[in-house]
Amino acid sequence: MKPLAARIAAEIAAAGPMSVADFMARALFDPAAGYYTTREPFGARGDFVTAPEVSQMFGELCAVWLYAAWQASGAPPRPLIAEIGPGRGTLMKDLLRALRQIDAAMLAGARIFMVEASPRLCAVQRATLAGAPAMPQWCARIDDLPGGPLFILGNELFDAIPIRQYVRTAAGWRERAVGLGDGGALVFLAGAGTPDPALLPAAAATAPEGAIVEIAPARTALMEAIARRISDDGGAALFIDYGHPTAAVGDTLQAVRGHAYADVLSAPGTADLTAHVDFSALVRAAEARGLSARLMDQGDFLLGLGLLERAGRLGAAMDEAGREAVRQAVERLAGADAMGRLFKVLAVTARGVAVPPFESAAS
Ligand code: SAH
Repeated sequence: MKPLAARIAAEIAAAGPMSVADFMARALFDPAAGYYTTREPFGARGDFVTAPEVSQMFGELCAVWLYAAWQASGAPPRPLIAEIGPGRGTLMKDLLRALRQIDAAMLAGARIFMVEASPRLCAVQRATLAGAPAMPQWCARIDDLPGGPLFILGNELFDAIPIRQYVRTAAGWRERAVGLGDGGALVFLAGAGTPDPALLPAAAATAPEGAIVEIAPARTALMEAIARRISDDGGAALFIDYGHPTAAVGDTLQAVRGHAYADVLSAPGTADLTAHVDFSALVRAAEARGLSARLMDQGDFLLGLGLLERAGRLGAAMDEAGREAVRQAVERLAGADAMGRLFKVLAVTARGVAVPPFESAAS
């Protein structure tokens, strides 16, 4: 089969420019050549390192949060514990081990689910979780989950879900699209589509010609589906991602290959493609369902849940080199110049449910 870029170019030649959202979806999830469908993105030898791959402490502290959210929600029996977009499955492995230590009976009564769109990554996750204290079931979509109180988390999920971009032209806002340039290479251009102005961020009103804004209806729809579940059946959600608390003007679409930025349009399917998450849109979607949604920097979240204490205990059993590695992991996860400030944590619960470290637990 031809490379994905050549197939996309042939489609554009036949049918016209492709929206950024469709391009992103193809680059990430084309069944034969998409990035998540065919590549091994994670880790030192992959293209990028995510928080669960930095240290087991990340998944362990997620377990602390999830358990506190379950307790604060009235400790409902037979909860579903789910992760969406689990990558290699490392977070779930660490989370299950920690939950067994916190409350083995709660874990024994829980049903564990992995929601993963890539069949290849499902197989990787199965291998990672072989021998875990509880065996998950797998499904491809939120709507495939059975009913019941849902405690769900996702790390770097929303950044991988396609966005739409609009570019300001002399004639107004136009949807940004991928077309063919001289010689047939893929290029960005202003497409024919015009947005509903009500959907654009407020800052778009004063943006100059050439400015780019982003919206992500697919992310909002996913958040709405999760919020609907939680408001109907109970539960809570935790999403960690990089992005901004309010919508702004700017192009955040980026490609990463081998731990370095790459060109977005060259060789789709061979680089990770992400865009910053506009958390205000996710907050609105959760609040529209009557839920409470709050945001915190990843560094404050992890430190508030006891990252330093956990690091101290972990390091106590190690030699000096091990302790140094733990110190570096703390810096990477929580440091303001590393992931601590760029990454945000969004916690969604029913109204009035107090969860650490956003609120101290109700006594
Ligand atoms: N959480 C992991 C992986 C992040 S990469 C980590 O932190 O290491 C994004 C993950 O989300 C991949 O596993 C990808 O296949 C998955 N994914 C992307 N869109 C999805 C969707 N709509 N539903 C379920 N999984 C999705």
